[in-house]
Amino acid sequence: MEQNSWHRLGAEELQKMFNVHPRTGLSGEDAAERRKQNGYNELSEGKTVSPFTLLLNQFKDFMVLVLMGATLVSGLLGEYLDAITIIAIILLNGALGFVQEFRAERSLRALKQLSAPSAKVLRGGNSEVIPAKMLVPGDIVLLESGDRIPADIRWLDCSSLYVEESALTGESLPVSKHSDVIHAEEIPLGDQKNLGFMGTMVTRGTGKAIVIRTGMDTEMGKIADLIQNTESQETPLQHRLEQLGKILIYVSLGLTIVVVAAGILHGQPATAMFLAGVSLAVAAIPEGLPAIVTIALALGVQRMIKRKAIVRKLPSVETLGCASVICSDKTGTLTQNKMTVTRLWTGGRGLEVTGEGYAPNGQVLEKGKPVDLKNDQSLRRMLQVGALCSNAEIIETFPTEVRGKRKGKDKDIVVDKSSDSSSSWELKGDPTEGALVALSGKMGLTAQTLAVTYSREKEFPFDSERKLMSVIIGHPGGRMVCTKGAPDVLLNRCSYMLWEGGVVPLTPTLRQKVLDANEQMASGALRVLGMAYRDMRSSEKVDSEKDAEGQLVFIGLAGMIDPPRREVRDAISVTRRAGIKTVMITGDHGTTAEAIAHQLGILQRGGTVLTGAQLTRMDDDELDKVSDNVYVFARVSPEHKLRIVKSLQRRGHVVAMTGDGVNDAPAIKAADIGISMGITGTDVTKEASSLVLGDDNFSTIVAAIEEGRNIYENIRKFIRYLLASNVGEILTMFFAMMLGLPLPLVPIQILWVNLVTDGLPAMALGVDQPEKDLMEHKPRGAKENIFARRLGWKIISRGFLIGLCTLGAFWLTLRVAPENPAQLIRAQSVAFATLVMAQLIHVFDCRSSRSVFHRNPFQNKYLVLAVLSSVILMLAVMYIPFLQPVFKTVPLNFREWCLVFVTAGIPTFLMGAGSVWGGKRNRGRSVSNSMIKSTKISA
Ligand code: ATP
Repeated sequence: MEQNSWHRLGAEELQKMFNVHPRTGLSGEDAAERRKQNGYNELSEGKTVSPFTLLLNQFKDFMVLVLMGATLVSGLLGEYLDAITIIAIILLNGALGFVQEFRAERSLRALKQLSAPSAKVLRGGNSEVIPAKMLVPGDIVLLESGDRIPADIRWLDCSSLYVEESALTGESLPVSKHSDVIHAEEIPLGDQKNLGFMGTMVTRGTGKAIVIRTGMDTEMGKIADLIQNTESQETPLQHRLEQLGKILIYVSLGLTIVVVAAGILHGQPATAMFLAGVSLAVAAIPEGLPAIVTIALALGVQRMIKRKAIVRKLPSVETLGCASVICSDKTGTLTQNKMTVTRLWTGGRGLEVTGEGYAPNGQVLEKGKPVDLKNDQSLRRMLQVGALCSNAEIIETFPTEVRGKRKGKDKDIVVDKSSDSSSSWELKGDPTEGALVALSGKMGLTAQTLAVTYSREKEFPFDSERKLMSVIIGHPGGRMVCTKGAPDVLLNRCSYMLWEGGVVPLTPTLRQKVLDANEQMASGALRVLGMAYRDMRSSEKVDSEKDAEGQLVFIGLAGMIDPPRREVRDAISVTRRAGIKTVMITGDHGTTAEAIAHQLGILQRGGTVLTGAQLTRMDDDELDKVSDNVYVFARVSPEHKLRIVKSLQRRGHVVAMTGDGVNDAPAIKAADIGISMGITGTDVTKEASSLVLGDDNFSTIVAAIEEGRNIYENIRKFIRYLLASNVGEILTMFFAMMLGLPLPLVPIQILWVNLVTDGLPAMALGVDQPEKDLMEHKPRGAKENIFARRLGWKIISRGFLIGLCTLGAFWLTLRVAPENPAQLIRAQSVAFATLVMAQLIHVFDCRSSRSVFHRNPFQNKYLVLAVLSSVILMLAVMYIPFLQPVFKTVPLNFREWCLVFVTAGIPTFLMGAGSVWGGKRNRGRSVSNSMIKSTKISA
C-alpha cells in the first residue's frame, strides 16, 4: 500500500484488505500470526550503549590512563610485581564501575517499560485491553476521550471525535475526525481527517478504527530517530553532582601536586612520589559518584513501584522530597469510590434506603415502613430516571467467575461479595451511576424490566464541567428527557417540580426546600445527585445538551455515601507532621466536601472552603491572599485547578497535584509533581504526569514522598561517606609530606583502600532505611544545597580527623625505630589498617544525621555485609603470606591492633559523643525555654 493513500480507501475495502470484521476483530491466533510477520508495534530503542562500550568507558578516564602509564614506567624500571598488582587493581576498579553503571542503565530501562501504553482492542468478538506493542495491522481498536492512539489507524466510526496531533503536525488545537473517504490524492497529514496517528491523543468523543500501520512503519516511526532520547532523564541533582565531580578533580589534582612536590623536596625518590601521587589522585577522585547516585535513584524508584507509585520522570523523585502541598481529588483518591444510596428526598419527603454495596438487597423506608412503589409516582419516576440515565451495569457473578479489577472501560469493576456468600455483584462502570442502578434494582426495576418499555435514543454524557448527564428515552407513550446531576446546577434547568403527586411550577419556596434538603444530606458527607425529566413532543429535535436540558421537572434527590479510604486519615496526619499541607479539590458540593474533609482531618483550625463560583469571581491577587488558608476547593471545574496550582506556586509552595480527566492535564503539567491515576486516569493525564498512582490512593502519594525524601537523604549519606574518605586519604599523605615523614601508604595500598572502601559500602548506603524522623520535619527547600544542614562541615571535620588519626597511628608505630626499614613497613601496615577501619566505622556514622549512637548499626544488612567483606579483604592482604610482599604489609600484633582500633574509632566516636553532648545541652536549653514560656502563659 502506498504510504499516502490510506485516506482514499473505504471501510469495506479496508476490511477485505485486512481480512477482518469490524464487529469481531481478529482472532487471537490470527493476531499472533500477523505479529510474527510484522513484529511488535513499537519504535526502535535508538542507540543504546552496549555493555562492551560501557566496560571500555571505565578505562578511558584520564587519570586511569595516567596511572596505567606510570605503572608501565615502573614495570620497565623492574618493579614487575607492583606493575601487575596495580593493573589488577585498575581492572577490578573498572569492573566495579562497570557493574554499577550497567545496573543503573538496566534499572532505567526497566522504568521506561513500566509506563508502556495499552490499547483496547476487539479480539474474537470481545473487547480486551492489551499492551499497545501487541497490536497488529488489521486489529480493530476502540478509543475514547483521553486515550493515546496506539498505532496508525483509519477511522471506521466516530462520534464527536477530536484528536490533538501537535506531536506530528505542530497544530496545537485538537482537530475533528470523521470516517468518510477522502478522494484527494496527495494531502498533508493534518488534512488526513479519517486517519489517526500513533502517539496523538483523543481529546473528545469516541471512535472505532482499524490499525493500518504499526511500529516503525507509522508516521511516528518515520521521525522516531528525531524524537528519541530527547527527554533527558538526568535529575538536577545528578547534573549538579557532575559539576561538583569536575571541581573535585581539580582540587584533588592540586593537592596531589602539592603532596608530590613536598615529598620530593623532603628527599623522597621522585619516581616513588610520582607513582604515589598518581595513585592518590585516582583514589581521591570520586569517580563512582554519578553511578551510585543513579543506582540510589533507580533502586528508590523500584521501592516506590512496590508501594504502587510509578515514577514516569526521574527528576520528580527529587522534587517529591520538597513537596509542601498535596492537592488531591476527593472521589476515589481520598474516598473509596464505592457509592451506596442511603437517603432519598422527593416530593418533600425524606426516605431511608437499606442494604449495602451493589447487591439488589434492601428496601426504601418512610418513617421505618417500606414504601409501596406502585402507589408512589414520584419515587417510581426518580428510580426510573436514575437507572435510565446511567451507563453502569451490575452483574451477578458466581465464585468461579469472580474477577478482580480490570483495566480500560472495565476499569471501575468493583466486586461486592458482602450480600450473599454464593454470588457477588460486580459493577461495570461509574460507581455514582452504579449506586443508582443498585437502588432501582432493590425496588425491582432492573435493566431487563426497564428495557421492555424504554429504549435510549441519544446520550449527552456527563462531564465534570457541566456536572449533568442527559438521555433521550423513547417509550410507547412518546419520548422524554431524563437528566441527573449536581442539584444546584440541575435546579437552574428546571421550571417545574413533582410535588404531592402532581407537576407544579418550581416556585422560589420550593426551590429553597430542595436546596435545604440538599444541604442537609451534604452535611452528612453524602454525595447528592438531583433527578429531573421532561416529556417531549414526538417531532422535537434535540441536537445539543442545551436543547435537552431546559424546562425540566425536578423529581428529587439521592444521597449516597462514599466512605473515606481507611488508611487516608493516618496518611494525612503523617503529612501534617511532615509539614506538608493537604488540600482537597473536588467537583462535589462544598458541604459534602467539607464534611469529608473534617472526617479525614484535612480541614485545619482557621482553614476555609472555597467554591468554584467564588474562585471565578477572584482575580489572581485575591486568590493568592487566601490560597494558603484554603483546605477545600469545592464545585470546581478542571480549569480552576490550573489557577490553584499557579497561585500556590506563587506563594512559594512546591505543589503535587492529582488528576484523572483530559481537562486536568494542563494543571498536572504545571504542578511541580503532576500525579495521575493508574486505574481511572486517562492516557492524556498519565502522559502529562510525572508520577502514576497504581491504586489511585492518596496514601500512595505520601509513600512516594517518603521514598523521595529517603532517596535524597541516602544520596547525602554516601556523598558524605565518599568525600570524607577521600579527604582523609589526601590529608594523610599531605600531612606526612608537610612534616617530612616517609610515605605513610604505598601506592598499591592507596588504590586498595579506594577499591575496598568506596565500592560496596557506598552502594549499601544508597539503599539505607530511612531515619525514624524522616517524616517528622518540614520539606527541604527546593533550592537547598546538597551540602546544607551541616553536611559540608561533617565531611571536612570527619575527613580531617580520619587523616590526622591515620597519620597519628603511623607516626606512633614508626617512632619505635624510625631508621629501621622493617619498622617503616610495620607503620605503613598500621596506617593502612587504620585508614580502612576509620572509613568502615565512619560509614555507620553516615547513616544518621545526628550521630552513630542514634541508629542500630545492624539494621542495614547490606551495609553490615559490605563492611564485613571489606574487613576480610583488608585482613587477606595483611595475613595471606603471598599477598604480603605484593601489598607491602605485615601481620600486626595485639598492641598494634589496639592502636588501630582506638585511632580509627576517634573520628566517629569523638564527634558522635560531641553531638550527643551538644544535643543534650540544646534539649536542656529548649526545655528551659519552654518552661519559661509556660510560666509566662500561666502567669
Ligand atoms: P473529584 O474531583 O474529587 O473526583 P467528584 O468526582 O465528586 O470530584 P465530579 O465527578 O466532577 O467530581 O462530579 C461533580 C458533581 O457532578 C457531583 O457532585 C455530582 O453531583 C455530579 N455527578 C457526578 N457524577 C455524575 C454522573 N455520572 N452523572 C451526573 N451527575 C454526576
